[in-house]
Amino acid sequence: MDKVDAVVIGAGAVGLAIASEITGKNRDVFILERESATGQGASSRNSEVIHAGIYYATGTLKAKVCVEANPMIYKICAENKVPHKRLGKMIVGNGEDELKQLEGLMKQGKTNGVNDLELIDSDRIKSLEPRVKGDMAVLSPSTGIMDAHGLMDFYLRKARRHSGSDPLVLDTEVRGIKKSKDGYQIDTMSGREPFSIEARVVVNAAGLYCDKVAAMVGIDIDQAKYRLHWCKGDYYSLVGKPPATMLVYPPPLKDTLGLGIHTVPDLTGRLKFGPNAYYIDKLDYKVESPVEPFWSDVVTYLPSIRKEDLRPDMSGIRAKTQGPGEKARDFVIEHEEKRGYPGFIDLIGIESPGLTSSPAIAKMVSTKVNELLD
Ligand SMILES: Cc1cc2nc3c(=O)[nH]c(=O)nc-3n(C[C@H](O)[C@H](O)[C@H](O)COP(=O)(O)OP(=O)(O)OC[C@H]3O[C@@H](n4cnc5c(N)ncnc54)[C@H](O)[C@@H]3O)c2cc1C
Repeated sequence: MDKVDAVVIGAGAVGLAIASEITGKNRDVFILERESATGQGASSRNSEVIHAGIYYATGTLKAKVCVEANPMIYKICAENKVPHKRLGKMIVGNGEDELKQLEGLMKQGKTNGVNDLELIDSDRIKSLEPRVKGDMAVLSPSTGIMDAHGLMDFYLRKARRHSGSDPLVLDTEVRGIKKSKDGYQIDTMSGREPFSIEARVVVNAAGLYCDKVAAMVGIDIDQAKYRLHWCKGDYYSLVGKPPATMLVYPPPLKDTLGLGIHTVPDLTGRLKFGPNAYYIDKLDYKVESPVEPFWSDVVTYLPSIRKEDLRPDMSGIRAKTQGPGEKARDFVIEHEEKRGYPGFIDLIGIESPGLTSSPAIAKMVSTKVNELLD
């Protein structure tokens, strides 16, 4: 059986970012991915927004890694020709209640370390985006968009350059993990052949299946509160010329499920709206939501949008650790030593802002991996 230093399970943005940091130093690292290409999970089914870190409770990992990663993403994109745009964003509100909510968000963002936020009035909104209607807005100049595949290609190129060989093993599904003398035996189905490998360190970055992978090693995922609740988000695209270029958001949903249906401009100039949020049991990417509630949310801030110009587009599925009606939970990034699994690192519930946060998450995980391997 092959023995390597580390195995990363999952070649989404997070797994690839981690692999790009832990390869090198003459290490053997494998990235095991069950699909036949990288980034087929949440990393290619999202809004591609470079978040600033406004919404997340201060002191959470979500806030910490997002605020740290925002300038890292811009730097990576600029230095490595990854398409991106610093479009800026407004979170638009109307009336007393929403003004209070926006003031709360300003405070939250500033305490998190997002230092460039401004509360702007309706005249300023009009001067920036004439078609947007709102009494006031939180303006976030450091929010932008990126090409998620471009970012993942960069991470993979970096991992390959550091490795000297190709660490990526596609079409290889991890099906079992056992503790071995010096680490873990990982049993996979690679194409149609069973294939096993031993690794001193295992990083579980399996996205929507990270709870299943944690259970494989022996972790009680209910006791650890790792069991995932899949939460789907549908998008509708707009036919015709986009009425706004910036990212425009309503105040976030009070049920903590999502950030509300917002404009999702892409790098080709198309505009989508989304994502909404509803829990599902079965993986299915078909857009199921009716257009009406989407449209009625959008017209609160962009009244010129006609319902007949919206078309079902794509969907993505969030890996949430909170179920329906539960409070928002933080990312879990845990070296499972205390549970009796030294060298096993779990990344659980890496929902939004996981794409933005990927370089900071990778830095954090690589520090632990270096400690374990050096
Ligand atoms: C609707 C939506 C909108 C979002 N918008 C944003 C946004 O605008 N900005 C932002 O920062 N974040 C956003 N996110 C969050 C972001 O997309 C995720 O946090 C990020 O992509 C997670 O990356 P990942 O690598 O952890 O997971 P994934 O991309 O899902 O990768 C996990 C990989 O593991 C593989 N895998 C699973 N099980 C196994 C196994 N047993 N063996 C081998 N391989 C396996 C999968 O095939 C997959 O490729 C959004 C998410 C959603 C769903």
